[in-house]
Amino acid sequence: MSASKLQALWTPLAWLNNPTGGAWARDVLLEIDASGYWSGITSGASSVQAASVNAHLLSGPLLPGLVNAHSHAFQRAFAGLAERRESEHDDFWSWRDRMYRVALAISPEQLKAVAAQLYIEMLRGGYTHVCEFHYLHHAPDGCVYDDPLTMIWMLIEAAREAGIGLTVLPVLYERAGFNAPALRNDQRRFATDAAWILAAQKRVNESTSGSLVNSGVAIHSLRAARPESINTLVASSQGPIHVHVAEQTGEVDECIKTTGLRPVEWLLRNHVLDSRWQLIHATHVTQDEIEGVAKSGAAAVICPTTEANLGDGTTDVAAWLNAGAAMSIGSDSHVTRDCREELRLMEYGQRLQHRARNIAASPATGQTATAERLFARVTTGGAAAAGHGLWGLTVGARADALVVDPSEPALLGFPPSRTLDAMVFSSPAQPFANVVVAGRWVVRDGAHPLQNSAANAFAKAMREIWSDAA
Ligand SMILES: [Zn+2]
Repeated sequence: MSASKLQALWTPLAWLNNPTGGAWARDVLLEIDASGYWSGITSGASSVQAASVNAHLLSGPLLPGLVNAHSHAFQRAFAGLAERRESEHDDFWSWRDRMYRVALAISPEQLKAVAAQLYIEMLRGGYTHVCEFHYLHHAPDGCVYDDPLTMIWMLIEAAREAGIGLTVLPVLYERAGFNAPALRNDQRRFATDAAWILAAQKRVNESTSGSLVNSGVAIHSLRAARPESINTLVASSQGPIHVHVAEQTGEVDECIKTTGLRPVEWLLRNHVLDSRWQLIHATHVTQDEIEGVAKSGAAAVICPTTEANLGDGTTDVAAWLNAGAAMSIGSDSHVTRDCREELRLMEYGQRLQHRARNIAASPATGQTATAERLFARVTTGGAAAAGHGLWGLTVGARADALVVDPSEPALLGFPPSRTLDAMVFSSPAQPFANVVVAGRWVVRDGAHPLQNSAANAFAKAMREIWSDAA
């Protein structure tokens, strides 16, 4: 991607960060510095001011691009292909066994094709940055590739071609369960230890400085990593620390049986959690755990469509919001690649459970708009997940933005100040047709420059991976 860099944008309406999360502002001029970051944001700016800085004039509202805080790119090759129940019972664990079939088959070239298609879809779905929780490292027979980071380079190359920002999170994955000595044979591509992860992070950082790529580290889960290895990783790594936690009640029960503590409780007791820590799913948690995480500065990363698809359960969204916890969203297994669907399901899961409406809103604090409260929280929460100091339409954040099309059916004649309500709760929404990353157009007038070649390469990879599917 090498579209020419924008100097400034002017929009009649923009969702700007503010101390309570975000709010609409009118006639906004946004200036972009040479590194692709917002250098000035002025509300009530005239067209004369806009012309003086060579601003590109937009007709529709402007939103920040979101961080997709949890992705396993290879699982895009599996989306829609696990929707048949072939025995009496089907749950997360039987899904995982089938998912491993793709994990064991996919080649580096196929991973690149799948990830490039996925990342272009993400840009159109409202994400301008993705955090790759990446554990698929080794060759199908479990041998280390000549270059051990072969699979990581594929993800980085796919992100570069798509023009999306990327946080690489190599995953510590050591054992099959709390009391297992090692991984299962069908987990052989994932085997790492703390030293491997630290070396991988060092190489990624050395080769990506000055790009849209950065790194953190990940711990697969408390069941899959030894406590000593987690200590080493936390002490010696940089950037965000992502960990799957309390996704399944089975995992919570095992953790209690082994350690006497619930998984989030164990983290709170054994580590000094802070804003580096990103707790993926955090589905089965108590009020005390939520408050402990919120107080620590750590964050919850919710993946509503994957959690629904896998039958995980729902976390207490209102409790997380009201505790003031940092939050973000992830498309995880990629059964959908659109941020609006994640936000909609985050709220609808709660409505179905509580038989009430607008659960995520907070009239007591004046935040009556459900979509706005959710969108604001996950916008700012994306910063820590992606290892950025700031995120959103605010000076100092990377200049990433989505242009809303006012001719979209859901918005025809709609009050502009309620744009986010319509985008989340009046579907289907059209893909974003104009998307900016680091001050450059990556999707323009509905088109991505590599959309056709990426789609062809993806279709070829899918045919190869699923050649024996009935
Ligand atoms: Zn995951």
